[in-house]
Amino acid sequence: MPSPEIFATLDIRTLILVTALIYLMCTLTQGFIYLNNRDEPGLGKFVIAHALINLGLILIAARGLIPDLLSMVIANASILSGLTFLHHAIRCFYQRPTSLRATAVVFVLSCLAFFHFGQISPDYAIRVLLFSLPFIVLCILIAREFFLPTEHEIQPAPRWVNATLFTLLALLFTVRLLVIMDAHLLASSIIRIGTESSLLQASPLSSLTWLVLIASFGYWNVGLLLLVSQKFLARQNRLAITDGLTGILNRRGFELMAEKILLTRTASSNFMLLLDLDHFKQVNDRHGHEAGDEVLRQFVLLLNQQLRKSDLTGRIGGEEFAVLLRESTEAQAWSVAERVRTALQQMPIRHRDTTIEVTVSIGVAQSGADGESFAELFRTADQRLYQAKRSGRNRTLFRETADVATP
Ligand code: GH3
Ligand code: MG
Ligand code: MG
Repeated sequence: MPSPEIFATLDIRTLILVTALIYLMCTLTQGFIYLNNRDEPGLGKFVIAHALINLGLILIAARGLIPDLLSMVIANASILSGLTFLHHAIRCFYQRPTSLRATAVVFVLSCLAFFHFGQISPDYAIRVLLFSLPFIVLCILIAREFFLPTEHEIQPAPRWVNATLFTLLALLFTVRLLVIMDAHLLASSIIRIGTESSLLQASPLSSLTWLVLIASFGYWNVGLLLLVSQKFLARQNRLAITDGLTGILNRRGFELMAEKILLTRTASSNFMLLLDLDHFKQVNDRHGHEAGDEVLRQFVLLLNQQLRKSDLTGRIGGEEFAVLLRESTEAQAWSVAERVRTALQQMPIRHRDTTIEVTVSIGVAQSGADGESFAELFRTADQRLYQAKRSGRNRTLFRETADVATP
């Protein structure tokens, strides 16, 4: 069995320097990502947090070569406030409420504490305690942010790995704190793995701590990258199925979601409504394209007001929309279609100083009676929509030609 003493042969300054260099990769990677995505919340803050932690590590690596005020007081304050700022950045990244106050408080308090126990009455064990306690708490708080579920996530695994990483760091520093407290304050040595009495003194525990930090920060660079790329990918996926003008699903998105819903068997029917604004070309010709766009946006607002959250809305083409009413009765579907049609008729749309009157024609198909698949329902609803157009517009066509609601 190799003895823990073999770790004592490693040079601590070299290990700290390697840790600082590995962390520099995190800072640079985050910097490049930020430069390409300046509007993304949290990314700029990741760079600042990493730079603060990096500064602290570089100053620590220079212990003995530069004044202690820098390599001890500012270094520890930088790392702890950097970690607090990292927590703030992660909350910004996930768009959770957060404030900067904690970072400032941690910086000032750690400057005072490390100045006192570093310069006025130096005590290594107290400094370890003063560093480790906030470090452990901050690692737990950061781990918690990664354990919390987030919206629009493709895959939770990278988040969980980051959460585990910070939990392990909290555990490592708890064990290290207990061992050093045991050796230095209680002057006993229950756990015999050897401890140092100054930062650069070689000891198995110190070497092990820095080696774990090197491995952790190596992973952290990739872990954070995965989180950012996942968020971007989720956004790309959302954009690919969203209509840019109205914010509802586009044709592809509507089809994908509607197909999924139609595949699940339910006791009651689903209804597909196809809605096409009447003479919309004239709206553009008379009032301009911008006014036309405003009509489309306001129509979607009106449409959503008449629907339940569980119903699906999509923009199928220029001025053509589709709705999937889930688990409804014929009476409900009829009433929704008619409410939309009459509400539009009664609510002229205002754009700048003009009032635009628009009507809509609607074709309805019912799952079961008119088929089961998306394609079958779409085809039937489309045929009825065109029948509604041919028979005078501003009407809903539901099954037989007799079921036509007109103004
Ligand atoms: P109908 O009652 O038969 O449906 O007549 P229509 O004029 O509504 O139908 P048509 O297909 O002849 O014209 C549709 C118009 O919709 C033509 C096009 O300029 C307009 N359009 C399509 N997409 C947009 C858009 O994104 N914004 C605006 N403003 N207009 C659009
Ligand atoms: Mg039209
Ligand atoms: Mg059309």
